[in-house]
Amino acid sequence: MSFPFLADSTNTGTTGVKTILVTGGMGFIGSHVCVSLLEENQQVIIVDNLCNSNKKVLSRIEKITGKVPAFYSVDLMDEEALSSVFKRHNIDAVIHFAALKAVGESSQIPLSYYHNNITGSLVLFKVMEKYQVLNLVFSSSATVYGENNPIPYAEHFPLSATSPYGRTKVMIEDILQDVFKANPKWNISLLRYFNPIGAHPSGLMGEDPNGIPNNLMPYIAQVAVGKRDVLSVFGGDYPTPDGTGVRDYIHVVDLASGHSKALQKLFAAEFPSIDAYNLGAGKGYSVLDVVKAFEKSSGKDIHYVIVPRREGDIAEFYADTTKAAKELDWQVENSLDDMCRDTWNWQQKNPNGYQS
Ligand code: NAD
Ligand code: UDP
Repeated sequence: MSFPFLADSTNTGTTGVKTILVTGGMGFIGSHVCVSLLEENQQVIIVDNLCNSNKKVLSRIEKITGKVPAFYSVDLMDEEALSSVFKRHNIDAVIHFAALKAVGESSQIPLSYYHNNITGSLVLFKVMEKYQVLNLVFSSSATVYGENNPIPYAEHFPLSATSPYGRTKVMIEDILQDVFKANPKWNISLLRYFNPIGAHPSGLMGEDPNGIPNNLMPYIAQVAVGKRDVLSVFGGDYPTPDGTGVRDYIHVVDLASGHSKALQKLFAAEFPSIDAYNLGAGKGYSVLDVVKAFEKSSGKDIHYVIVPRREGDIAEFYADTTKAAKELDWQVENSLDDMCRDTWNWQQKNPNGYQS
């Protein structure tokens, strides 16, 4: 374990400043959440093994906020190293992002996915219990709604999954339900993200996929910047208005503010609870809607070709956001145009991601 970026190690307790441990805080979503927590003057501690992120993220966080979070290059499965972080800091809550997340890859190397995501989470929850840190925000996903629920998806719907990745999310949600039943002092927010895209408006942080992007927005951005020739649109014969798949895209900065709201609710709770919340915009856009919006924002033509459907994809889904609006007092502020503008800004300034 290394301690190169150690910031202040204790919280101030009475002033409302909280110390938040962020697992996977160097990743796409985690880094944006760290920025928003630091801007709220919270203390941030990142634990990340950098298996899908770059150390440069720290200096970008510093450039945006003027602050450097404490950073530990630790694998969650290393119980001893993780325990020493809990011993060193007086942690008030954990936001747990760290996971492997590529749906297709999870079918090819399921054991790695189950090991990393499930074992990593079990070790984390065990260490949290040991140190009586019982406030938790967990990164779940709309993938837990499976393929048989009606749209829009609401939090009380039955859960299922169609990939090993998705099953790790369902399993961790189930584990946390059992953990709460056994010890109702746990206070847990399960945040089910829809399709996070966009980037920090500064252009300093954004999504930096390894190799060929699996997801729509980074692929479009790479076509726009000339790194890829043509976008393959997976399916043009879905029962949707233009025949292409419809998803609920959410700006990563709005997603970050959802985490702040979830933390506020945990800290203000009279009684601990476990609650799930959809974080989405509550409306769907088709693949071609996104292509057109990106063309408008970037002024570039996005060449595309319609190819057969991608295995495992469903036609359409979007979130029912009523519960998050009511109980977290949260809603999105950014439009699809904003998401495209910020992605394009990031892509232009960092054509090779954090390697640029
Ligand atoms: P990301 O890969 O950019 O970030 C995850 C981070 O976790 C990376 O920095 C990685 O190095 C780290 N990590 C992974 N395993 C680790 C381990 N064992 N120990 C320590 N660090 C580890 O992914 P992201 O897009 O920021 O996603 C964050 C979370 O949100 C994940 O749990 C993901 O499943 C979930 N999620 C993401 C999306 C999406 O579209 N991006 C959608 C729904 C849910
Ligand atoms: N998609 C596409 N081409 C791509 C990547 C994605 O047509 O190169 C489509 C995909 O079929 C889905 C939508 O874009 O309808 C969003 O896919 P993504 O992988 O970004 O997110 P998902 O909702 O599948 O997790």
